[in-house]
Amino acid sequence: MSILEVRDVDVFYGDFQALFSISFTIEEGQTFAVIGANGAGKSTMLRTIAGLSRPRSGQILFEGEPVDHISAHKRVAMGISMVPEGRRVFPSLSVNENLQVGGYGGRKGDWNLESVYELFALLKPLAKRQAGSLSGGEQQALAIGRALMSNPRLVLLDEVSLGLAPVIIKRIYEAMVELPSRGTTILVVEQDVQHVLTVSDHVACFLEGRISLEGAPAELKSDDITAAYFGM
Ligand code: ATP
Repeated sequence: MSILEVRDVDVFYGDFQALFSISFTIEEGQTFAVIGANGAGKSTMLRTIAGLSRPRSGQILFEGEPVDHISAHKRVAMGISMVPEGRRVFPSLSVNENLQVGGYGGRKGDWNLESVYELFALLKPLAKRQAGSLSGGEQQALAIGRALMSNPRLVLLDEVSLGLAPVIIKRIYEAMVELPSRGTTILVVEQDVQHVLTVSDHVACFLEGRISLEGAPAELKSDDITAAYFGM
């Protein structure tokens, strides 16, 4: 059984249609990348899977069960956890406290303070620091670590590398490779295509609310990706 199935999903903001009959399937242990330009509908897709936006029609199945009637916080308990764009950590709490908060209401599993500090070794010496005083890259690592603390079966990562220094992007992507072996499937949204193609098993390119190209990165030609990305 697939971990996530999106079937013919339409999402509107008022009269404006952001997603048009989107369908795709994510298998357990996959790293599935959604790429696309500004405004293509990538964040809307993630928010809909997390339960923060509602499809007007279509269906989302998590581990074979329809989740459309289930609230966002109950989806966390089921194993869907999101890292929103802009790495929103709790700035006045310490790194340790941010991680502990991430564990409330989640599932039991491999991820705990120790394993998160092992994954993101850069966070360990910062454990007592206020999260608001960290660099952007450190905050992104913390935001991902906090999501992992709920032991998600599926983690939704929005714009992982946006605005971060290349050295930290590299470290975050190196850490992401570890997640599937610990039972966490990844859906990652990126505008920066280069990094994400190196870690993903499957990529879907969004263009103006539709999937313009889909496949395994190794099977896709870079010219076709460029055309699908920019709509040429
Ligand atoms: P970005 O990388 O800029 O976040 P995106 O691919 O994630 O782009 P979305 O944020 O999902 O795109 O936006 C898709 C479309 O929906 C855009 O045209 C955007 O202007 C519109 N949109 C997004 N959020 C809202 C909202 N709250 N109200 C109205 N329109 C919205």
